[in-house]
Amino acid sequence: YPPERIRNFSIIAHVDHGKSTLADRLLELTGTIQKGHGQPQYLDKLQVERERGITVKAQTATMFYRNTVETSESHGTDSPSYLLNLIDTPGHVDFSYEVSRSLAACQGALLVVDAAQGVQAQTIANFYLAFESNLSIIPVINKIDQPTADPDNVKAQLKRLFDIDPSEALLTSAKTGQGLSQVLPAVIDRIPCPPGSCDSPVRMLLLDSYYDEYKGVICHVAVVDGAMRKGDKISSAATGRTYEVFDVGIMHPELTPTGVLYTGQVGYVITGMRSTKEARIGDTLHQAKSIVEPLPGFKPVRHMVFSGVYPADGSDFDALSHAIEKLTCNDASVSVTKETSTALGMGFRCGFLGLLHMDVFHQRLEQEYGAQVISTIPTVPYIFEYGDESKVQVENPAALASNTGKRVTACWEPTVIATILIPSEYVGPVIMLCSERRGEQLEYTFIDAQRALLKYRIPLREIIVDFYNELKSITSGYATFDYEDSEYQKSDLVKMDILLNGQPVDAMATIIHNQKAQKVGRELVDKLKKFIERQMFEITIQAAIGSKIIARETLSAMRKNVLAKCYGGDITRKKKLLEKQKEGKKRMKRVGSVDIPQEAFHELLKVS
Ligand code: GDP
Ligand code: MG
Repeated sequence: YPPERIRNFSIIAHVDHGKSTLADRLLELTGTIQKGHGQPQYLDKLQVERERGITVKAQTATMFYRNTVETSESHGTDSPSYLLNLIDTPGHVDFSYEVSRSLAACQGALLVVDAAQGVQAQTIANFYLAFESNLSIIPVINKIDQPTADPDNVKAQLKRLFDIDPSEALLTSAKTGQGLSQVLPAVIDRIPCPPGSCDSPVRMLLLDSYYDEYKGVICHVAVVDGAMRKGDKISSAATGRTYEVFDVGIMHPELTPTGVLYTGQVGYVITGMRSTKEARIGDTLHQAKSIVEPLPGFKPVRHMVFSGVYPADGSDFDALSHAIEKLTCNDASVSVTKETSTALGMGFRCGFLGLLHMDVFHQRLEQEYGAQVISTIPTVPYIFEYGDESKVQVENPAALASNTGKRVTACWEPTVIATILIPSEYVGPVIMLCSERRGEQLEYTFIDAQRALLKYRIPLREIIVDFYNELKSITSGYATFDYEDSEYQKSDLVKMDILLNGQPVDAMATIIHNQKAQKVGRELVDKLKKFIERQMFEITIQAAIGSKIIARETLSAMRKNVLAKCYGGDITRKKKLLEKQKEGKKRMKRVGSVDIPQEAFHELLKVS
């Protein structure tokens, strides 16, 4: 296939507007997968993706398509066949990194909008990502089968927000199949073919990589110039290492060897790479021994949320370490460093793109690797400046010793620009919420007669703790929300310690805005009191800033032991109680002399 007969496009949309379903239909339409293959959202391979109905990893599929409808290029019978690469992208804000990465291999995008819900926060974010990458955008108004569908209103929104001509919009239902036949002809007509020169030495962009038990490291690549054949030698521009191409092919949608990939194609390559660490996403792979200009890569991943990950049972450290090693092989966007906590022992400090990313990582650790973990209160990367003008990025509050002797002279915290779309009747409560979260209003407009768009600058710290849930609950679920990173702002930050029986628990320390310390300290102490079970002795729970105690609770000693209740009673009941205790123990951490259940750590995550 010459580049003129190749189209690389992706599907972008707000979550749930039908990207994955539409991708499925297109794969069926081109005979790439069988109709009714039993699993909806074929490209969502991960268990978490299936369970949560979200796409986490962008996936690529190659389709072959012969245009039977007449277009400007084809005339009737001998219409040429096209090679189409479809890249399904995740819609959630945390994964916009994956979206922009996918877009780098595309010349166009289908912007899918739910005909009933209209433009939502991630529609806007994704539109701008595509627009800034200079992609041709084909608006697709999907779910027109729904009784509440209002495609004309959506067209008006697209016009108002993005200046998209209403006549460009395709109307589809990925459910009934209505309108789907127009989609691929529009892709061929409106999306330019990939640029690049067939005669130059091979040059390709490394889009993604993952580790396969049997095949080793598999790289997804977009060939920009030249061709790559099995047996060729290729080098990495980033590391300078050279590899032999063992296997090359397309995702059809399973790996299908083709022996060669030509200019404009998207496919996979297997080389002798031993670990995905060698396959840096955004790297340029090129013909060995030739000097080439590296392709513009992607902006580096920025970790927004950090949290400690510890084995739930101290002896499992090696198992956890192994699981994390494996998992990060398939998710290079997580950063991992070893750390030690007095309370929790040996563990890791992990950096994530966002809270959902963190959740997904924990879930995968448990489901795919059977690891049981305790995670600590997530924190954002703060910057602290000391008297000697040194600046330090703090990713672990415990590491910020309150008495190092060095005086903190200034602190900065990261902020985000949040975009919130809501029906206008909820504007009041949402503005309240945003100002409670220390937000600064940047924009307040109406996108149609019923809906408003709010833009706020908000400290990231305020977003990561339960902001989205609260936003959803005060708007009866109608709000949609997205954010992008913005600059650091100066802030009045303090470190808050939690003390159990007078001993600070390093894994529970947080960094927090001074004004909020009192409220949060109170909440943390209350939560802990609820979750720590009474033990044989009295436990005091305190929140402190430096040496100042700002909240305190006491958990009185347990008077009888559990078995006393059924003394002389039925033995099976006694056994059950003991079993139950044992169960509970599994996820306990003993800190000093106090047993803390995993849920306590978990609940602390939700305190704002
Ligand atoms: P994604 O998050 O954008 O990938 O959305 P999905 O493809 O997972 O679809 C979200 C939900 O919408 C699923 O339950 C689909 O079955 C449903 N859906 C997708 N397309 C249509 C459509 O055209 N009509 C209707 N009624 N439902 C649809
Ligand atoms: Mg999806």
